[in-house]
Amino acid sequence: MNDSIGKCNICKDVYTSTHVEVAPGILVYVCGSCLEKAKDNFIWLCMSCGKAYLRPKKLVINRVKDYELKRAYMLCEDMQIIQGIDMCISCNPEKILDYMEAQQTAMEC
Ligand SMILES: [Zn+2]
Ligand SMILES: [Zn+2]
Repeated sequence: MNDSIGKCNICKDVYTSTHVEVAPGILVYVCGSCLEKAKDNFIWLCMSCGKAYLRPKKLVINRVKDYELKRAYMLCEDMQIIQGIDMCISCNPEKILDYMEAQQTAMEC
């Protein structure tokens, strides 16, 4: 898979050979412009329906009230983070809030 070319999993528009590991052992294609976006946005990619979600980092950080979590996010501010999630709001609107919260706590940088 490492030499192959595929459609960017985030914008689903551009073919690229760049891979990013979004979860242990799971590689997705990410094009240059989406990687560029990952500098200012946290990107979550739904593993179940393939939808990508972008959230401006500043907004996410401002919304976090927990001090430890905020600090963890601020450490990530300059990194390009694309994270795979098992399900998203379109797949499972009821579970997503809990899940996103769990993801945030489990997030490593
Ligand atoms: Zn892209
Ligand atoms: Zn989904």
